[in-house]
Amino acid sequence: MHAREEARQRIEQLRVILRENSRRYYVDNAPTMSDQEYDFLMHELEALEAAYPEFLTPDSPTQKVGSDIDAPMGENAESQTGTDFVKRAHRYPMLSLGTTYSITEVEEFAARADKLLEESFSYCCELKFDGTAICLTYRNGELVQALTRGDGVMGDDVTDNARSISNIPQKLHGDYPREFEIRGEVLMPFSSFESLNRERADEGDAPFANPRNAASGSLKLGDPQEVARRGLWCTLYHIPAQSVPFQTHNEALEKAASWGLPVSEHRRLCKDISEIRAFIDHWETARRSLPYATDGIVIKINELSAQRALGYTAKSPRWAVAYKYKAEQACTELLGIDYQVGRTGAVTPVANLDPVQLGGTTVKRATLVNADQMEALDIRVGDFVYVEKGGEIIPKITGVNLSRRPQGLQKPAFPELCPDCGTPLVRAEGEAKWFCPNQDGCPTQIKSRILHFLGRKAMNVLAGEATVDQFYAAGLVRTPSDLYNINKYQLLSLEGWQDKSAQRFLDSLAATKDVPFERVLFALGIRFVGETTARDIARHFGSIDAIAAASKEELLEVGEVGEVIASSVFDYMHSPAHIAEIERLKAIGLQFTGAASAQQASSALEGKTIVVSGNFSISRDDMKALVVSHGGKCASGVSGSTSFLLAGTKPGPEKIRKCESLGIPVIDESTFMSMIPEGSQQPREEQLSLF
Ligand code: NAD
Repeated sequence: MHAREEARQRIEQLRVILRENSRRYYVDNAPTMSDQEYDFLMHELEALEAAYPEFLTPDSPTQKVGSDIDAPMGENAESQTGTDFVKRAHRYPMLSLGTTYSITEVEEFAARADKLLEESFSYCCELKFDGTAICLTYRNGELVQALTRGDGVMGDDVTDNARSISNIPQKLHGDYPREFEIRGEVLMPFSSFESLNRERADEGDAPFANPRNAASGSLKLGDPQEVARRGLWCTLYHIPAQSVPFQTHNEALEKAASWGLPVSEHRRLCKDISEIRAFIDHWETARRSLPYATDGIVIKINELSAQRALGYTAKSPRWAVAYKYKAEQACTELLGIDYQVGRTGAVTPVANLDPVQLGGTTVKRATLVNADQMEALDIRVGDFVYVEKGGEIIPKITGVNLSRRPQGLQKPAFPELCPDCGTPLVRAEGEAKWFCPNQDGCPTQIKSRILHFLGRKAMNVLAGEATVDQFYAAGLVRTPSDLYNINKYQLLSLEGWQDKSAQRFLDSLAATKDVPFERVLFALGIRFVGETTARDIARHFGSIDAIAAASKEELLEVGEVGEVIASSVFDYMHSPAHIAEIERLKAIGLQFTGAASAQQASSALEGKTIVVSGNFSISRDDMKALVVSHGGKCASGVSGSTSFLLAGTKPGPEKIRKCESLGIPVIDESTFMSMIPEGSQQPREEQLSLF
């Protein structure tokens, strides 16, 4: 075949691969390829199109910004009730950045700018935040619009969601222009990411691959309150030069910070390539101690006149380049594959690795996600595999080093039977995971369900995994109601139990009779019914009998409940085994009614957004509950929209500093108590369960 024909075919092939992976990344928020692999394929396409310009078309992925617009529901997409976002045109296109993994290419970028620019110029180096881009518009000092990047020309209007991100100010102060745009990144800090993925695992949902995907999925949710709960965070890094009268990019950012906008302090003005290199080297390791993900450094020409002179390509500015750090990767031997059964019966393949050092930790195990991913990797036990830990918390196998594959390795067969109970696995249409359907007989599922029932956010009983294993092995429990039949003599006959520990356990179990209905409903462990959904359903129906009698259509009337959750609840409530278990728990005295809508004690704090920090005479959660019961809203961080900081002893110093700089009042506990009506200074029971 001629080289030209070969190039044409490869170009076609690369475009198909890149388009498919772009959709998985931007639309489904569930990439299956590493960023580095994607970038290398993109560079290969760019090089081929440069060599054969006759094959370049305007719709090539090299010419367009990856689009998250018109997102259909993907595997990882969340219930998006009401997320038909209005699309709006960007005033100035929101582009991507030219990226490189090579210092030589950064040098070439600097040399090109040197050659093209007649004026002297400097560079502003910043962190490349690994989240999802946002464009905010302020008019008369008030946040009036927030758009996602979309396809660069049109974005989704996510203003309500942006308002619920605690560090995006609703109002500015100082000498801000009458109207301007500012762009930045919405991020999910590692701590929020970890707790979100824990929650998703509890609810039987697929975890997000990394904080970037989690941030982008969360910004597109239909419920701003849920967005607020996700703990997103914003950092801003660009004011389009056309909209403000400054000389330099850095001056614009300093000004933005003075108006109360969250601008990263981690930037440096550099005069030449050696200073740029020092900045890159410093952050290569320093970035590991940041609480959020970064994937590189952005080098921007600082002078706005020079930026204007250089202009833009169809896809990115010519005055900036992103240097990306290579994802931390190691190559090690795959020793074996375990198949783990979760609470909902989902079977996940987990790789056992020859231990290898990666990003400061020893990695012995990594997820293989599901059967499709194993197939896509064409992985075999005995292979040398690449393990990566990028923004991801869970190490992931990203590839196989085929050149090191020993002869005669066999393809692993995904088990047909449950590795725990031997029941044939099933895979429902459209699901990526295989499931063990033996919910009521599979030991792992039974134990996980009991552990979930006892959990802190459910019945909050003092017992962990080892105790549940012990009870199960002794034949004492098969369902949660069995826990209540265990007596002290039985406990004392088990290894390690003494009078005191046995009594503590029994007392803690007895206290579950006071746990409110919404938490009991969560504790049942219905698939897809997490804490928030359980609360919404409990409040909507008010009793388990009403839920059991509800049709799917009636279940769909609950705010955040979509088809998947409604079917799951409906099926659960129509299983004779589940109904019998509910009847047993009712007879024991657990709460199965009574979570009617929380009533407000007063409206004394209506319209106020309050940040609670420090220690008080009651717990901080109780204090927050008190704020809510008097009509106030709690926010986790201080921003321009904070009404006041309620500070106990030892409040967060950063919060205090921020209040001082924004002129936000700080009040103590006794002043706060004087603001709410006499006799209502205790949080109401039903409010307590909110936190
Ligand atoms: P990008 O992430 O490479 O860079 C551009 C973006 O960087 C901007 O839009 C902005 O959101 C962000 N950014 C962060 N800090 C910034 C700062 N200080 N100044 C300016 N911008 C900053 O480009 P992209 O177009 O968002 O995404 C393309 C990249 O996404 C690819 O290079 C690839 O790594 C990844 N991707 C991966 C897959 C996959 O399957 N893994 C698929 C598609 C895209």
